[in-house]
Amino acid sequence: MSGPLFNKIALIGIGLIGGSIALEARKRRLANKIVAATRKAETADLANKLKLVDHCGTDLAAAVEDADLVIVCTPVGACGAATKAIAPKLKPGCIVSDVGSVKQTVIADMLPHIPKGVHFVPAHPVAGTENSGPEAALLDLFQGRWCILTPLPDSDAAAVDKLETFWKALGSMVNRVAPADHDRILAITSHLPHLIAYTIVGTADDLGGHLNSEVLKYSAGGFRDFTRIAASDPTMWRDIFLNNREAVLEVIQRFQEDLFYLQRAIRWGEGDKLFDLFTRTRDIRRALIHLNQA
Ligand code: NAP
Repeated sequence: MSGPLFNKIALIGIGLIGGSIALEARKRRLANKIVAATRKAETADLANKLKLVDHCGTDLAAAVEDADLVIVCTPVGACGAATKAIAPKLKPGCIVSDVGSVKQTVIADMLPHIPKGVHFVPAHPVAGTENSGPEAALLDLFQGRWCILTPLPDSDAAAVDKLETFWKALGSMVNRVAPADHDRILAITSHLPHLIAYTIVGTADDLGGHLNSEVLKYSAGGFRDFTRIAASDPTMWRDIFLNNREAVLEVIQRFQEDLFYLQRAIRWGEGDKLFDLFTRTRDIRRALIHLNQA
């Protein structure tokens, strides 16, 4: 390849995901210039202090001026307003993307603000940690992880290909999926597990009294892994549940039915039912290790 993939990349929001894109894109020389803009001045100051980008400010529209690639990296509930704010300064031919964990509502919120001649290609890197903010940015976050592109039927083919090349250059494997399918898949693989973690940690906390400290002391028995997930950013996860409402409600319903099945098996001493399920789930874990996604 001769020269970087893009001349200027602008990131709107510079937390875990925006910051990690910036670090990786710079390391791999994917742009001549990488800038960012965020809502709060203190977040911008921190991003500048950490040298995540060439410059980070708080004027979202100014940041996207002359950019060839703009990636909105805010919580999903803020994607629409951020796109509205940057729209007047988007250059014709520029690619606008996002990293939102929900696709249908984000597309519905962003699309109306995308000017004619600007290419909108929604995306979701399925990689992360429970940490947030500029200090959480990590090199290698996307290495070997999937990035799901959810192009629209009329998305510009060259723009979709270019964004795919970008994510592959960041170390990701890329797949293209319909937005509705994306939301249903992530409801079970990511959103329900987070909801369960939030619930378990809340339930344990409610035990109260002298048991409370015992719970923390013996947390290695499984609880500890849930506390890590339940430490994930409250704003981000509030937005995910409110925006993937239908798909999440559907999997909660199914989960409740399955939980009742187990509850009944335990009550009536039906060990074979428990054993069969636990055997099936162990095979799933082994398959995951085989796919290198553990
Ligand atoms: P984060 O670390 O909390 O960063 C969010 C960034 O967005 C911060 O710079 C924040 O800046 C900014 N922001 C928030 N509200 C804004 C607004 N109204 N206007 C402009 N900027 C705003 O979050 P993250 O983990 O990077 O997540 C960002 C997106 O990636 C979310 O949509 C999430 O669904 C998606 N995602 C997350 C993960 C994960 O594991 N964390 C994985 C894949 C995708 P201020 O401090 O200035 O508000």
